[in-house]
Amino acid sequence: MVSQTMRVLLTQLKCPRSMDFCNAVMQAELNWAWYEWQKLEAAKKVFEEGKLKHSMTEWRRHLHQNPEFGFEEFETANFIVGRLRELGYEDVVTGVGGTGVVATLKRGTRARTVALRADMDCLRIQETTNLPHASSKPGLMHACGHDGHTAILLGAATLLMAEDTFDGTVRFVFQPAEEWGQGMKAMIRDGLGTKIPFDEVYGLHIKPGLPVGQLETRSGPFMAAEDGFQVTVKGAGGHASSPHLCRDAIVCGASIVSELQTIVSRVLDPAELAVVSVTSILGDNVKNAISSELKIEGDCRHFSSVVSKKIEYTLRRIVDGIATSHGCEAKVYYERVFVPLVNEEACTQHALAAAQAVFGPENVSGDAPREGGAEDFAQALLIAPGAFANIGNGDSAVCHSSEFEFNDEALLPGARWFAELVRQRLPIEAS
Ligand SMILES: [Zn+2]
Ligand SMILES: [Zn+2]
Repeated sequence: MVSQTMRVLLTQLKCPRSMDFCNAVMQAELNWAWYEWQKLEAAKKVFEEGKLKHSMTEWRRHLHQNPEFGFEEFETANFIVGRLRELGYEDVVTGVGGTGVVATLKRGTRARTVALRADMDCLRIQETTNLPHASSKPGLMHACGHDGHTAILLGAATLLMAEDTFDGTVRFVFQPAEEWGQGMKAMIRDGLGTKIPFDEVYGLHIKPGLPVGQLETRSGPFMAAEDGFQVTVKGAGGHASSPHLCRDAIVCGASIVSELQTIVSRVLDPAELAVVSVTSILGDNVKNAISSELKIEGDCRHFSSVVSKKIEYTLRRIVDGIATSHGCEAKVYYERVFVPLVNEEACTQHALAAAQAVFGPENVSGDAPREGGAEDFAQALLIAPGAFANIGNGDSAVCHSSEFEFNDEALLPGARWFAELVRQRLPIEAS
């Protein structure tokens, strides 16, 4: 409808047409203006997102060129703090669990805190991508996408600082030493979750093969626990021509390696997912001498502490029995490195709801397959409910490959998912 002021104006202008005609013209013009304003707002959003995508790409590539190993992420932490300060973050705590950084952003009055987490460390891998922004450090490479995860969390910090769309507290957690499975424990020992509390926690990982702009997760056990073991077999070495005078540690060890295969195939419930892999064997390494000692190392994956205990118990029993039968002695060192990653049901639904808003329901799956890979974020899920999800990297080399490259197109979707989670979990209630 044309306003009263407009009617007066039209009368003063002595509009020769009927008032109905003028009404229709004005309505059309208002519609057009509204449409143009919407277009302008959309263009502004595209422009802002384009600017953010550009910044995130620059941050990611800078981090990629300057990788740092677990607990040595000093320059990485400095870089993160620098960007956070530029964005206006004042509450930034450094040195949490060594090189960890936690930034806090409060809005409104709600006493609820959501934590978002990224990892910062690289791997001891020689990069072979030959990209212009390839690692400048020989033997070190961001081959697991932690450069991208860090840039994504900085992107979410950018989005949330610029808007007034939530009521509560957000913590941005940048953790060291994920690849070792030690960084989150170190941060927790240093007060993450207690001195720096939160009510729920979310994290993500890039996934090669999953299309960009898609997200997948699952409730319950999602990623495996990792245990490591080392078996040292001691026999009696000697000349290769005189086995009757020796106790061959290699023959004993070979039997152990074969028999360890029965843990999964004959001991565990077939409904349980588990892997026991022997990954390294080292003898005396003399071609014409029988080995006096053999070191066997291996790696186990599973999804429950009951299975872990069963694997350890059976492994020790097999090693002791075979060593005795060969007249050798054996020692077993067994350690639990990563706990299983278990997504909490309600938080998984929250993660999916935010993803559906950002990516569209057709690009979101709550039925991701369980993964044999381990993830240090699992430790955070022991102190607060939360969920972990994969986001797509598109067609690319696999993680931990010297050819791996983080797809920069995945940066903005990741940041938008984190920001939407905060908006949905800490909504502004109408008063
Ligand atoms: Zn990794
Ligand atoms: Zn990783």
